[in-house]
Amino acid sequence: MYFVFEIEFKSNKSYISDIIKAIAKKISVDLDINHTKDKIILVSKKDEPELEEFLKDLESNLPASINLGKSKHYLADEKPEFETIVENSLPLDLALCPSCQKEMFDVSSRRYYYPFTSCNCCGSRHSFLEQYPYKRKNSTMKFLSPCQACQNEMKENPLRRDYPLISCIDCGISLKMLDKKDERYANDKGSYRKLFEVAAKAISKGKVVIMQTTFGRRKFFKPTQQSELDKSILLITDASKLNEHLMMVPQEFNALLSIERPLLRIATKSTELKKLYESSLWCKYPDDGMSMLLAKELMTLSLDFVAYKECEDDSDGDFLIDFDIPIKTQNDFKLFINQDIKLLISGERLIYPQTITNPKRGRLSFANDFISVDGVIDKIEYFSKLPASEVYIENDEPIELEFENIYKFDGFKASMLSVLAEHDRLTKKAIGVHFDDKLHFLYYNQKEVIDIVSPKEFNAKSLFENITNLRNGSDRLVKNFKKKFPDLYERLDKLDNKYNIFDVTAILLELENESFDGISATALTFMGKGGVQIDIKVEDNYFNNYAYIASLMSYKLTDADAGLLCYSIYESFGDYIADIVNQLMNKTKSTTLTLSGETFANQALWGRIQRNLALKKPILNVNYPIGHGNEIYGTNYL
Ligand SMILES: [Zn+2]
Ligand SMILES: [Zn+2]
Repeated sequence: MYFVFEIEFKSNKSYISDIIKAIAKKISVDLDINHTKDKIILVSKKDEPELEEFLKDLESNLPASINLGKSKHYLADEKPEFETIVENSLPLDLALCPSCQKEMFDVSSRRYYYPFTSCNCCGSRHSFLEQYPYKRKNSTMKFLSPCQACQNEMKENPLRRDYPLISCIDCGISLKMLDKKDERYANDKGSYRKLFEVAAKAISKGKVVIMQTTFGRRKFFKPTQQSELDKSILLITDASKLNEHLMMVPQEFNALLSIERPLLRIATKSTELKKLYESSLWCKYPDDGMSMLLAKELMTLSLDFVAYKECEDDSDGDFLIDFDIPIKTQNDFKLFINQDIKLLISGERLIYPQTITNPKRGRLSFANDFISVDGVIDKIEYFSKLPASEVYIENDEPIELEFENIYKFDGFKASMLSVLAEHDRLTKKAIGVHFDDKLHFLYYNQKEVIDIVSPKEFNAKSLFENITNLRNGSDRLVKNFKKKFPDLYERLDKLDNKYNIFDVTAILLELENESFDGISATALTFMGKGGVQIDIKVEDNYFNNYAYIASLMSYKLTDADAGLLCYSIYESFGDYIADIVNQLMNKTKSTTLTLSGETFANQALWGRIQRNLALKKPILNVNYPIGHGNEIYGTNYL
């Protein structure tokens, strides 16, 4: 008899299975660990003597993860076989695993208040990497040698077996704190803790603390109505206060606390936060060691949250906490949650580096600052050799290369291929919708992607001229608009072509945040049931930019609420997309539908897409962001 334990895990990354392997090693349990496409499956003999202890340890040391789902266990007569995947085991930047966290807060450990605590499965690792292969001598820790205790640990602790970046307070990175007058150093347990205590006290008194974290330089401050909150992120220090301040579904709560520590847009609840941020804000739970230790001290001072902004090296503050080891940071990643769906919206952390199972050998491709070469995706500076016989470059990529076989490609086509590849659908005909600041309808004929309904050009510069020529009576609309909103008219009339359709929408609706993000945020403020019909489709199935702006102008003339209009924009897009998709799928007899592009990460649009297209079972990226960032993977299938 065999005991089988299945845990849903929808990612090709190895950090969870590595923790399970380390626990199995520690307990000396005889266990098979299979990482399949969507599960991690553990199999042991039913009478395995250490099984119970292993499961107990697993319960306390397995981190929460956005990729983990339901689990179940059963008994089997025969030993079951599973098709496993090749795991991505390159070093990612994550928060700390439960075991490393315990160490960091245990006064008897060698890593008490040591912010660089990490192991083979957690913490900041990519930040220290200089180039592949991933070894200490290729990291910025190369000049620090591990002490005797760390060297022993590399042999004995299954979580840190041969760990390239091992360090502790005795042999690791020291911190310094500077203010206008003096400098303070931390190099033993007492002084590390003191430093975070002082920083937290300063913040609680309204001072600004700049801190070099392993996830980048951050400016921490107590948010008040006088603070510049634009582009700031709310850091919740105390998990037990999350539900007091924010309006969340359980999925959002769990995701915030997961080891991946995403950035989430969440609705405000407490009066305090509503006053500061209105209806919603970008929020996260402390992620890297530095931020976690600061948060712990802030919590002691009863500060439930602070704000931070990512900042430059020369940013000014009352205090600076820094260390002398150089680090390279990745952009934070944003997550979208709607019921049981979690989508990576954008970002680099957690997503890269990636390994690809069947890469095109000899192909080097460039897209969105990343390269794909011989089965690895990361930034170019991490590779010392670039073996290539052909080079693919995305059209927008500003790279000039002297090379014979250079091919240019459209990013949105590679995006669609990345979705098909992730779902093993490259042998099927498919319709794709790609929606970032432009909306494309695509067709995959089992060989290549064709742009079948491509977006029409949008010129913000000649906005009113184009609207005037739209149809009979449009000139009257422009005149009325000019009369009622003279200042706004003048502003819109002076825009140049660097403004895209969503920027113009935000300006027209006089949103504070004049971008796509502003429209999404404003749509969330709408509490009503249904929106109004915005004119999206005009001729031959094409979305007409100017008809759409004209439609918004006429609603604005009636003083319609901006929240209602932003919500309605997405609803109308959802209806238009569904209409075209249904036509195209029928016409081409395709049964697969892919969605890609950041715009889909929007509650109003997603709700509408679900309502209209759920039966088509649309597929989206899993291991890659749905927006920019998936192209580089797709280049292997061009
Ligand atoms: Zn760890
Ligand atoms: Zn050490």
